[in-house]
Amino acid sequence: MQQKGIALARTRIVVIVTGLLWLAHLGVVTLLGTKFPGGFLSDLLQLSLGVVLVYAIVQASRRSEGLARSFWRLAAAAYSLWIIAQSLSVYNDLAASPSVSWFNNALFSFWFVPLAMAMFLDPEKEAGGLDSLVALDFVQAVLVCVAAYLYFFYLPKAESPGELAHSVWTPYFAGYAFVAGSFVVRAGVTRSRDSRALFGRMGIFLALSGCVDALYYYGPGRGLSTGAWFDLLWSALLVAPIVIAVTWKQAEAPELSFDHPRREKRVYTEIFFLLYPLLVLFMSLRIARERLGLAAVVVLLSFVCSSARLLVTQNRLLLAREALRREASRDGLTGLWNRKAILAILERDLLRAERDHEPVGLIMIDVDHFKAINDRRGHAAGDAVLRIIASGIAAVVRPYDSVGRCGGEEFLIVAPGCGMAETWELAERVRHHVAGNSIMAGGSSVQVSLSLGVATGQTAAEMEKLLHAADSAMYQAKHAGRNRVEPSLGRAASAGQSPSPTPNRDFWL
Ligand code: GH3
Ligand code: MG
Ligand code: MG
Repeated sequence: MQQKGIALARTRIVVIVTGLLWLAHLGVVTLLGTKFPGGFLSDLLQLSLGVVLVYAIVQASRRSEGLARSFWRLAAAAYSLWIIAQSLSVYNDLAASPSVSWFNNALFSFWFVPLAMAMFLDPEKEAGGLDSLVALDFVQAVLVCVAAYLYFFYLPKAESPGELAHSVWTPYFAGYAFVAGSFVVRAGVTRSRDSRALFGRMGIFLALSGCVDALYYYGPGRGLSTGAWFDLLWSALLVAPIVIAVTWKQAEAPELSFDHPRREKRVYTEIFFLLYPLLVLFMSLRIARERLGLAAVVVLLSFVCSSARLLVTQNRLLLAREALRREASRDGLTGLWNRKAILAILERDLLRAERDHEPVGLIMIDVDHFKAINDRRGHAAGDAVLRIIASGIAAVVRPYDSVGRCGGEEFLIVAPGCGMAETWELAERVRHHVAGNSIMAGGSSVQVSLSLGVATGQTAAEMEKLLHAADSAMYQAKHAGRNRVEPSLGRAASAGQSPSPTPNRDFWL
């Protein structure tokens, strides 16, 4: 509640400061115009609006999650570049320097590149943080811009170095229109309300901003100096995204990756990233004719970027393959081997036993009265008890024994090299360990016991028979009163009729 109040107060301050700054700009333009210090003050006020804008964007990103948060972060990066460019403009108003305006113009031409990167944000991937692939693609995109700048601006330097070569403007407007158009198209095709709101509003704003740029270079703004009426349009263009950022409210929780089956959409968006190094190479061919060193540096950096991207992708594939392999053989709840894996292990151990003339022990385990735990304490507490029992079993077996979860509350231990006596001893150890400890789940302790059936085998051919024998022995243990171990012979083993009455240790969850 208090947080909401603070957020509202912040929003009000941003709106009031924005209004005052714009009115001040109106005053400066009408009263001073292009007369000194009109131009300087006009630039300074626009810079201040830019700072307010970045603040509003940072606040919007703090209020957002997932894709929206990454979107606002990229917008903050873009407008931070714009702020640097505008600061250089203010400096230039005071001490005109061609080398500064060179850099300044470059920044003004490419400030929106980080925002354009938002096109590649993937709602299924974005967990709020900036993906390392997006970061690498961003660097690659910047390299394209650097190459384009050298190609279009640095080389045709016959014109004044403080001004952009005229040939820059066609690709500039083409790039700008492409970004604005892509945003609008993405807003149209997305199913997410939040994405539609973000990309739609920003797309319309970028289109509007491009129109104002065009009016400046080709329309009534041509030839006007800083401080003239046209500057009011620039500052209005800063007010628009402030309004978008301040009124932004996320409506949906970020998408979870398992909500939708993965589509191959990522594959065709990858084509853009293949085009980047190609563009760099293409432009560097011409740059190399005049500036071999510069071209080599740009191409080398682009190559490093592409290679790093390849390595990151490959590493992710390897990790994904590992995770899949693990998921395929492990039980999701307990982390033990799943049914398929433990049966494969049993078969492998029986094959080895056949060759070595050694027995393999098998212990089938079922938790006693487990349904009652679920009924009394809930399914979540039941799950927790199962996890603790599983870790308890895994803790007392030998390192070369394998433990799997066969189904609901049933477990299987494969103990290579164990005859009936040793297997029985191991089963008794497991039974005693679980029965002798109380388990803390859901805030109170619960006493659990196991019924265990023991069998041994020596050939892979008798695997089914062996499983059946262990299962029957386990049911015999149930019928004989539970909390006990039964051998497959059908004779009651001297089992846990007297489990330790007071738990000596506790498992804590
Ligand atoms: P018995 O001593 O005869 O084995 O009694 P029991 O209650 O343990 O046996 P029963 O087969 O009637 O119940 C097993 C229960 O295990 C039923 C089912 O709801 C529960 N169960 C199975 N899998 C899971 C699971 O993954 N999590 C939880 N919490 N419960 C499970
Ligand atoms: Mg059962
Ligand atoms: Mg049971």
